[in-house]
Amino acid sequence: MPDAFRRSAEKGFRGFVDLVVSPLFSLIFPDDCRLCGEALREVSRVPVCAKCLREPQPLVAEYFCVACRTPFVNAFPLDESGRCTLCRLGLTGFDAVYSYGSYEGSLRKLIHLFKFEKIHTLAAPLGKFLAQALPREQQFDAIVPMPLHWTRRWERGFNQSELLAREIGRRWNVPVKKAVRRVKPTAPQAGLTNAKRRANVSGAFRPRRGLQLNGKRVLLVDDVMTTGATAAACARALKRAGASHVALLAVARTDRRAALTGFEMASAVHVGSNT
Ligand SMILES: [Zn+2]
Ligand SMILES: [Zn+2]
Repeated sequence: MPDAFRRSAEKGFRGFVDLVVSPLFSLIFPDDCRLCGEALREVSRVPVCAKCLREPQPLVAEYFCVACRTPFVNAFPLDESGRCTLCRLGLTGFDAVYSYGSYEGSLRKLIHLFKFEKIHTLAAPLGKFLAQALPREQQFDAIVPMPLHWTRRWERGFNQSELLAREIGRRWNVPVKKAVRRVKPTAPQAGLTNAKRRANVSGAFRPRRGLQLNGKRVLLVDDVMTTGATAAACARALKRAGASHVALLAVARTDRRAALTGFEMASAVHVGSNT
């Protein structure tokens, strides 16, 4: 039966193309930038063009909290020492926050490609943003990725914060330690008030047994900081394990100023880092 033979041979060939040849070709000849759609001219493991990778800019603000660096439209929420209400009340749990840009535009798209479309190679360019946000004079004994609950990790197949933590660990030559576990599969935080977010994540993290962080300076790494409630709960677990200082480093943070007033940032300064 030559016809049936031909059909199965064709099927086999197509299967071979789909399984082996196509992925190989897309590896060597990448097609279009996943952000702007322009054809990629250079051979790269990252499916985003150089122009789009250069686009995310550091977050700028005229008024911001000196401790958590939350940007504000005016000085009203800040006390005489320059701290916001959450920091004044000791509700943040961490000692400092460093982040690169605002969670919008091209930076948001890059994080989505990385996290939800699982383009792991984006860890390198995103890690570069992390490195730019972290002041050189800061020193850390351990870098800790923000843990995912095992069910979420299983769903996603990887922990995006872990890949980012490894990038910064490699650049700064600091060991990466999975020091905390997420023991509670927390409901999504979106749409919750600040107080509800804190209640939602309280008790969600536990330091790993036998872990000694006594007197250690720890850098907690996450992809996005929203209100900081999740990071605060994780920072408290690290402090329970003995850490003396916990700083949070995130690629992006949500900036509510535009949503509040559409305020034009006139004489803005860079708040991504101390320097
Ligand atoms: Zn592009
Ligand atoms: Zn603050």
